[in-house]
Amino acid sequence: MRILSREEANFFIKECISVAKKATCSRFKCGSIIVKDGKIIGSGFNSPPKDLESQRRCFNSKADYDVKVTDKTCCVHAEQRAMFDSLRRNPKKIKGSTLYFVRINEEGEVLFAGKPYCTICSKMALDIGIKEFVLFHEDKAIAYEVEEYNNFSYGYFS
Ligand SMILES: [Zn+2]
Ligand SMILES: [Zn+2]
Repeated sequence: MRILSREEANFFIKECISVAKKATCSRFKCGSIIVKDGKIIGSGFNSPPKDLESQRRCFNSKADYDVKVTDKTCCVHAEQRAMFDSLRRNPKKIKGSTLYFVRINEEGEVLFAGKPYCTICSKMALDIGIKEFVLFHEDKAIAYEVEEYNNFSYGYFS
């Protein structure tokens, strides 16, 4: 785990915000970028799969689904999209890269992250070779090693 310098945090938070503004999810707008050697190798925002309106379930209640439906979010996560993008465009650069993630409100302001809990993204990031997963917390931005990030996600209790 490493705490980002204010300079690094400010720079990448801005990039994530501009990506998040493109999100079409009606619940939350999220943006994610993957960076290797100072260059963005992938980016993504959350929206229904293939942006199909027929697949939009943003306002469904979690109680509408069985417990076996483990991911009740209808939209593809911004981090997943950034990972798909990097796999498509820069597959050889993923090893050792850093993923940054941010969620914003309708005004484009950052909604600071709590503890990690998305096991879909945490295991995918670990599996494809990303090195660090960055969350912007209220007091500081933290880069988690992806293996510890996956452990934290599975250890989450609200
Ligand atoms: Zn949505
Ligand atoms: Zn996720």
